[in-house]
Amino acid sequence: MKKPFVTLPQLEEIVQQYPTPFHLYDERGIRENARRLKAAFAWNPGFREYFAVKATPTPAILKILREEGCGADCSSLTELMMAQRCGFGGREIMFSSNDTPPEEFRLADQLGAVINLDDFTHIDFLNKTIGHISETICCRFNPGGVFSIGASEEGFQVMDTPGESKYGFTRAQLFEGFPKLKAMGAKHFGIHAFLASNTLSNEYYPTLAGILFQLAADLHADTGCDIQFINLSGGVGVPYRPDQPANDIQAIGDGVRRKFEEILVPAGLGHVSIYTELGRFMLAPYGCLVTRATHEKHIYREYIGVDACAANLMRPAMYGAYHHITVMGKEDAPCDHKYDVVGALCENNDKFAVERMLPKIDLGDLLVIHDTGAHGFSMGYNYNGRLRSAEVLLKEDGSAALIRRAETPEDYFATLVW
Ligand SMILES: *Cc1c(COP(=O)(O)O)cnc(C)c1O
Repeated sequence: MKKPFVTLPQLEEIVQQYPTPFHLYDERGIRENARRLKAAFAWNPGFREYFAVKATPTPAILKILREEGCGADCSSLTELMMAQRCGFGGREIMFSSNDTPPEEFRLADQLGAVINLDDFTHIDFLNKTIGHISETICCRFNPGGVFSIGASEEGFQVMDTPGESKYGFTRAQLFEGFPKLKAMGAKHFGIHAFLASNTLSNEYYPTLAGILFQLAADLHADTGCDIQFINLSGGVGVPYRPDQPANDIQAIGDGVRRKFEEILVPAGLGHVSIYTELGRFMLAPYGCLVTRATHEKHIYREYIGVDACAANLMRPAMYGAYHHITVMGKEDAPCDHKYDVVGALCENNDKFAVERMLPKIDLGDLLVIHDTGAHGFSMGYNYNGRLRSAEVLLKEDGSAALIRRAETPEDYFATLVW
């Protein structure tokens, strides 16, 4: 059973001040999870999580993560600017982008960020753009083909197809690129890869680590380049469905350690730092979308209309993603009603739930849509003239703070030329 991190009495107080819909975040959950991740990789002295800013680009959240020792993984100009304003600087910023505009390389360089190159041709592009090659540089690897990790005991199968993805260098390009970068002034190197997303298997990171550690050992032996870090990127998932088991981050850290000791240590690379760029794992379970039932409709199906829509949470419409729903105050009521829970967009895929068994919903009920803390608010958009919601932080002391106000019509009209 999935339980909201907020109670009905707490929510009733919060909605007095901040009307629905809004995204609510759980400071305690965020901090405790960040500490578990750190503990799982404590065996690696240089370990650092660079939070994927695109998952939840909200300063209050970024500052909490920075206090927990995380860096920021940015992918665009505005994300770099936000990270800087939140106090991240120098090696605390990873810049992992693709199809990169020149001004973004310029700002990343000015901030002293670690630049993660997406392509062989970006070596010359970067050199031309900033006038040199950074002393520390990272390259993204794409092994091509199909990446799969065997079914775990839970029976999950993770498959992705790097051969169809637009990212990264080929293996041959890395063996050519590293010496080229070195000749242009690079002194310290990192290797990055992102091969599968939202994995629910403790084997994903260890499997990826095995591939990257062997690649690092080969590159080191072949080119003599100083490999300083391996960036395992994002992809560790969360159980969106109540029947899915969660990843065990301690087991994941231990699995990466075994590969480290098996491959990197014998290759003389025991000093290498492990980096991660998790987004979903860091935030998804510690955010929820709070919305209210505003209409009910009885036609060929039973519909509950709520005051949030896909513009506030795109994942169900875009990917058919499952997000669990709790009808607040009815946690123990039987799920004996079958509903489509829908928003107001003029798009029939604007459904948070399709034929979902839920307790009887009455107008005015508060609904918590779970696991929206990552790739939730941030994927919002303004279709149908819908406005972005507020974001509220449930602090460790139980109080609530507004961390982003809701958009107003003035915001929506601000860019128009009449
Ligand atoms: C999106 C992204 C991440 C975070 O992915 P999650 O699945 O949220 O962990 C990390 N690194 C890069 C380069 C990304 O594009």
